[in-house]
Amino acid sequence: MSNETEKKAYKGKSITVTFEARRCLHAAECVHGLPEVFAPGERPWIRPDGAEAERLAEVVRRCPSGALQYELVD
Ligand code: SF4
Repeated sequence: MSNETEKKAYKGKSITVTFEARRCLHAAECVHGLPEVFAPGERPWIRPDGAEAERLAEVVRRCPSGALQYELVD
């Protein structure tokens, strides 16, 4: 199992976003939808607390590849 197949979790206060690089199509829906959360080139590149959880969830659902997923905290 290489790092590329791994699903990484980015934990925020009210939402956790997971990202599976292998599935990403680089359509950049996420970056265009919410640049305050998705910042490629920065580490960590996903900052789940950068926006309201509901707005973030909406952008995650627009990911065309399923690379991004989310889970609400409680
Ligand atoms: S929206 Fe999904 S497929 Fe597109 S760049 Fe973001 S994670 Fe990758």
